[in-house]
Amino acid sequence: MLKGQTAIVTGASRGIGRATALELARNGANVVVNYAGSAAKAEEVILEIKALGVDGIAIQADVANSEQVQAMVKQTIEAFGRVDILVNNAGITRDNLLMRMKEEEWDSVINTNLKGVFNCAKAVSRQMMKQRYGRIINVASVVGVLGNAGQANYVAAKAGVIGLTKTMARELANRNIHVNAVAPGFIETDMTDELGEETKSQLLNQIPLAALGKPENIAHAIRFLASSDADYMTGQTLHVDGGMVMP
Ligand code: NAD
Repeated sequence: MLKGQTAIVTGASRGIGRATALELARNGANVVVNYAGSAAKAEEVILEIKALGVDGIAIQADVANSEQVQAMVKQTIEAFGRVDILVNNAGITRDNLLMRMKEEEWDSVINTNLKGVFNCAKAVSRQMMKQRYGRIINVASVVGVLGNAGQANYVAAKAGVIGLTKTMARELANRNIHVNAVAPGFIETDMTDELGEETKSQLLNQIPLAALGKPENIAHAIRFLASSDADYMTGQTLHVDGGMVMP
């Protein structure tokens, strides 16, 4: 389905990013596994990608740093000659109530989760414009639509990602670059591990399908948006959340 294409997945050494990198590879894409922390975990994903019969490279870059992002895109083009798919997945949480939230907690989440999407999309868009082809998929969140007490920074960033998705979709449509978002509900990853069992069981009451999601559920939606099956879609936010948001 994605044979011969090149994908960059940010924050791909674990969780939703890792599942997405493997899903795109399973469908024939060569994948750049971006990571910020452990090279060892990113290299493990590369081994799994290569075992699927496609190519992959791990590139360290902090998505909040535009110079590092530009270097990552340059290295990708040197290695594969093109960039067809960008998945803006990297994200962090620094939860606190508004009155207690430190400026550093606000800035770090906005810089990674919102500015990071801007940095990566801007860096690939020149190449995608030249190719007259590109698929950008941004990972938002249900809380960007619903709001969530204790997450002002994260919610503002994710709501921003949804707005940015619509704007980029309008700006880039005439170059055949489609920009969509996936808004996950609560997915079982290291990020949600921090929630604790009691909070998790309370959450189940808010989910019509009464279960947390798995990283693969999000990866499947991203693979759909990256594929020609979604050729007539741009500017959309696909909710993959067990029915939490019914727009
Ligand atoms: P995770 O913490 O397991 O993975 C996030 C990845 O992003 C990690 O590999 C981390 O190293 C990387 N990362 C963090 N900062 C980075 C930076 N500055 N540069 C490059 N990489 C960086 O989390 P996850 O649950 O897999 O989340 C993936 C995405 O899905 C995030 O954008 C998150 O906000 C979003 N999301 C997750 C859930 C959930 O329930 N897990 C729900 C909604 C949205």
